[in-house]
Amino acid sequence: LVSREFHPTDSIIRIGDQEIGGRRVHVMAGPCAVESRSQILETAQAVREAGATFLRGGAFKPRTSPYSFQGLEEEGLRYLAEAREKTGLLVITEVIDARDVPLVADYADVLQIGARNMQNFILLKEVAKCGKPVLLKRGPSATLEEWMMAAEYIMDGGNYQVMFCERGIRTFESYTRNTLDLSMVPALHALSHLPVIIDPSHGTGKWHLVHPMAKAALAAGADGLIVEVHPHPEKAVSDGKQSLTPERFQMMMADLVRLTSAL
Ligand code: PEP
Ligand code: MN
Repeated sequence: LVSREFHPTDSIIRIGDQEIGGRRVHVMAGPCAVESRSQILETAQAVREAGATFLRGGAFKPRTSPYSFQGLEEEGLRYLAEAREKTGLLVITEVIDARDVPLVADYADVLQIGARNMQNFILLKEVAKCGKPVLLKRGPSATLEEWMMAAEYIMDGGNYQVMFCERGIRTFESYTRNTLDLSMVPALHALSHLPVIIDPSHGTGKWHLVHPMAKAALAAGADGLIVEVHPHPEKAVSDGKQSLTPERFQMMMADLVRLTSAL
């Protein structure tokens, strides 16, 4: 179902009045985690003004350490919904537990499956039934084949609104947090009809690498970007080092507009 043979033209995913796929570029932006009402409302306003169409923010956080902040859960989902009301941005947020899928689907416009859960087949079968589009992140050590098979689970379960998200894989390089594999953009476009979104934030782990890699992603033909933005990255509870300030995000967006009109 994910393959180009099954569907020769690019799939277009319609969400509200937005369409993802077919190389229209969407930028999804916001903090790693929803930390407070004011943090998410302030960020939402800033990223909307800069041209983002989706607000991101985790209410359920999959953390490497059990002692790290785990997210505001339903309270965070409520703040995201309030930010959507106030800005008109669509909301993308991660679901980490199959039992929470109906709850998250009640608030979100797009459900994100995190890298760590790419092969959580119980969760994939559950999001297949939720009626909302799904952004499927690549597992940190997943091959293209395994990633496409994970998407196949969601489509086989009846949900055809799936997008791939490359967020970097684990290699021997340690300067960057992950190695952003941009070759997946043309590779997926050759093999699949589904949209491809690039996450240069988790893909590099360093804010100063986000802007150049975002440009490279669009040059490679990505259908969109998902970028971490925080009003005060130095105070962020998670992923501050890879988060852009609203000012830097705005500068990047202006540059991307120039680039896409040149392409
Ligand atoms: C995130 O988007 O904040 C996140 C946890 O990403 P990943 O699943 O790619 O690590
Ligand atoms: Mn993050």
